[in-house]
Amino acid sequence: MDALRRNGSLSRVEIARLSGLTPQAIRNIVDDLLQTNLIRETGRRKGFRGQPQIDIEINPDGGYSLGFHAEGGILHHVAANLGGQIIYEGRSQTIPRTEPEMLAAITEIDARSRQQLKGLSRLGVGAVFSRPSTSKWFLNEQNPAEFEAQSQALARYFEDEIVFENDANAAALAESVFGLARAGGDFLYLFVGEGVGGGIIEAGEAVRGVRGNAGEFGHILIDPNGEKCHCGNRGCLHGYLSIGGLRRKHPDASIEPNSVPDDWLDAAAAALGRALVSLENILDPQRVILGGTAPEWLLSEIVRRLSRQDFPSVRSELAEERIEISRLGSRSALLGAAALSLLNVTNPSLAKLTKQSFSLGDIAPTPRATDPRG
Ligand SMILES: [Zn+2]
Repeated sequence: MDALRRNGSLSRVEIARLSGLTPQAIRNIVDDLLQTNLIRETGRRKGFRGQPQIDIEINPDGGYSLGFHAEGGILHHVAANLGGQIIYEGRSQTIPRTEPEMLAAITEIDARSRQQLKGLSRLGVGAVFSRPSTSKWFLNEQNPAEFEAQSQALARYFEDEIVFENDANAAALAESVFGLARAGGDFLYLFVGEGVGGGIIEAGEAVRGVRGNAGEFGHILIDPNGEKCHCGNRGCLHGYLSIGGLRRKHPDASIEPNSVPDDWLDAAAAALGRALVSLENILDPQRVILGGTAPEWLLSEIVRRLSRQDFPSVRSELAEERIEISRLGSRSALLGAAALSLLNVTNPSLAKLTKQSFSLGDIAPTPRATDPRG
């Protein structure tokens, strides 16, 4: 499935070669996947010799995934099909504060989306919250009891179907399904929004660390004499590069093209350059993608000011661009929520990983007396 997702369509022989499995094993697996409708045959291709090969591709209608993103008190949701196309976009709504209200809202969303997507089977559900997974940070901006109620309701309602992720990792994984990294490869993703976060994608999976917080690039130290950060250090990257940092430094500046002060842009580029030196030297990724909820023009303007000669690293001699700007825009985390279950189907190791290791706090689906789905 992963080979098909990266390559479009392939013959059985090509899949065997790419996967390293025997042609007989691939024939059996392909038969099973055809049965389940996850893949389909597209027709014969004339080879150089022997029998013409039958091409196989992922069947876009083989299923869909539902993605939720809770951000700034609003709950968004979309559905994407197995082909990586957004096929349904639900109405965004204020996120309920209590578990019963949240359950009611989810029940309605579930019913409406099933109605809209009749005939398609659901492969899974992804939920993304904009906060580090098991950390006390940022909790002063969010009521922990409400967050608990909202995530519990999702976990109880969708049970084994749901996977949770933080926004930066989700946005990074969205690049693998919808964006610049569709062809595969290891990459680093820097998420710039109110703060700065990130994701480290290796072999199609997000590296998460012990508690799911790997990729908190916003707290890379840039200047030991800089502003105090809520993490306890001084001069962290997000103070220079984030929208929140821009607002604190220039409360009157409007975040429009040509109105963000030059000195802020130069300082943001320099901070990004310093952070890149460490990130590139430690991880040597194939590509670095800059995205998030910050507007694309702002990210481009910062990257434009970062010259290739400044801040050299192991990646300095690369022919391609040092940093690429995501084209997914401000919806990247929401798209990532929908990408989670698709990757569960197409990427075998991610499925293993999400099943065993990731939870929000200690949220485990608990048995309930009555099924809200009836
Ligand atoms: Zn910090």
